[in-house]
Amino acid sequence: MFVELDPTVQSCPVCQSPEFKRFDAVASDVEGHSCVHIVECGRCHFAWQYPLGRTETESVEHFDRNYRAQGKRLSEYFDPEKKCDIALLEVDFLSQLTLPGKKLLDIGAGAGIFAKVAAERGFCVTALDPALELERIAELPNLQGVRGTMSNLPPDETFDVITMWDVIEHLVTPLAIIDEAKKRLRTGGWLVLETGNYKSADRVQDGARHWMYQLDHRWYFSPESMEKILLDRGFSEVVHADRVLRPGWGGEAHFRGPSRMHFVRELLAHPTRAFTAFSTFSAMKQASGWPRAGVGIFTLAARI
Ligand SMILES: [Zn+2]
Repeated sequence: MFVELDPTVQSCPVCQSPEFKRFDAVASDVEGHSCVHIVECGRCHFAWQYPLGRTETESVEHFDRNYRAQGKRLSEYFDPEKKCDIALLEVDFLSQLTLPGKKLLDIGAGAGIFAKVAAERGFCVTALDPALELERIAELPNLQGVRGTMSNLPPDETFDVITMWDVIEHLVTPLAIIDEAKKRLRTGGWLVLETGNYKSADRVQDGARHWMYQLDHRWYFSPESMEKILLDRGFSEVVHADRVLRPGWGGEAHFRGPSRMHFVRELLAHPTRAFTAFSTFSAMKQASGWPRAGVGIFTLAARI
């Protein structure tokens, strides 16, 4: 078991392969053109950012600014109404798990929208985030906000479920947070994680311009790599969501492979880009063998 993910490693932290591919992708979280430097394992396709484009402090400032923005936001990700619809799907996923109780810790709570929705549905919620806007946290008797990290919680406080929605990919030390969360789970409790799926057909199709490439995204997981990491760290069981927890998602978890018709049309329309079209087609054929490649954002729950 590895101690922590380290972007300077000489072999893949998930499968130990020493073969890496390095390339520059377009950063989707900044206006104008900026690069994200990606290192990708040649065997299992676990990927990470190195050298890093943003320090931890710069990331907290970026999120602070965007959550506080009243008008134009960098992306609809920060739109409170959309967040609320997503939160309903996330609470639905929790209802499929056998939870020992209703005490919930939401790590990386952002503007506290999931926390509010979960509290309204009967959970007793602690919303935790280094950039939390305490003044905007809803006033509910079963909801409290903490601006900070797990070290700011009472040392003995434990939970029945700990959620991290789109958080793990941002962390400098993701495994330390997973271990810390595990210690704060009661017997039979669940850790729930959601993040972009690097081994998805969408990511392969969009190439270096996929939304997942962001200065703030340090790690690029897949359902497989995350499951392996959690089982290696002592969780006993993993349950995967069979869909993307986003309103209007109508795909299938299994990706059936690229369309030959689409490939031929691309070739005829842009003969000078034949090489790119062929490489994308081959990569997508490979992606059809990946489990859950149809799920662009994956959610899983791990029980201690
Ligand atoms: Zn690997």
